[in-house]
Amino acid sequence: MENIVEHKKIIGVPEPTLRRMPMYLSYLKAIEATGIRQISAPHIAADLNFDPTQVTKDLAYTGIKGKTRIGYEVQTLIKAIEDFMGINKINEVFIVGAGNLGAALVKYEGFKEYGIKVVAAFDINPEVVGKDLNGVPVFHLDKFRDLARRMHVVFGIITVPPSAAQQVADMMVSWGIKAIWNFAPTNIKVPDDIILQHTSIYANLALIINKLQTKYK
Ligand code: NAD
Repeated sequence: MENIVEHKKIIGVPEPTLRRMPMYLSYLKAIEATGIRQISAPHIAADLNFDPTQVTKDLAYTGIKGKTRIGYEVQTLIKAIEDFMGINKINEVFIVGAGNLGAALVKYEGFKEYGIKVVAAFDINPEVVGKDLNGVPVFHLDKFRDLARRMHVVFGIITVPPSAAQQVADMMVSWGIKAIWNFAPTNIKVPDDIILQHTSIYANLALIINKLQTKYK
């Protein structure tokens, strides 16, 4: 059985809606912790600086509709969002590149709340291989294929230098990985059936610096 989020459910959902879901979830968990049981869309919208109609539309994708004048049951909504995001079940993930960023991601406890757990890291540097990162072992990359098969891992994170990222992605794909989250600042290519997501703080930084320069200089 593959331990990756079920994508069938979220086909056809606008990407901005998907991107807002973690914000709703984090907000609702904080609200729940204060003992609030019910909340309305306008209240959520006001707290998160969103449009109330947008909030209602977004949350409707989870299959939950708010009641007039009462709103949503907070607990029910949290569960519905978690189901919708496919994070009620933990997806086990491998990470390649156990340097500064890779080690930080491995050690980051917060991923569990969003449905992933890094269960092994891989590297080629003998000084890094064999390390233990808060209980997560760093193996030589040679071990990736066998471990991925044995542990049914189909989700891989890339945190190697950009010059090595394409090669690592190609290997991951040939070893059965179906989803890649690439942190290296390079535009890697994968076959159409592979899920690929790039994340870059540099891209956001470029926007900030460009806006600073154009607006205030
Ligand atoms: P680092 O040098 O500390 O770590 C890179 C690790 O990758 C090293 O341990 C190295 O041995 C390993 N490595 C190199 N080639 C490899 C290969 N072929 N197979 C397996 N392992 C290999 O670098 P870092 O600071 O952790 O950055 C890692 C990557 O993340 C870089 O591409 C960097 O630009 C990027 N980065 C991205 C973001 C972001 O927001 N996406 C933020 C910071 C860094």
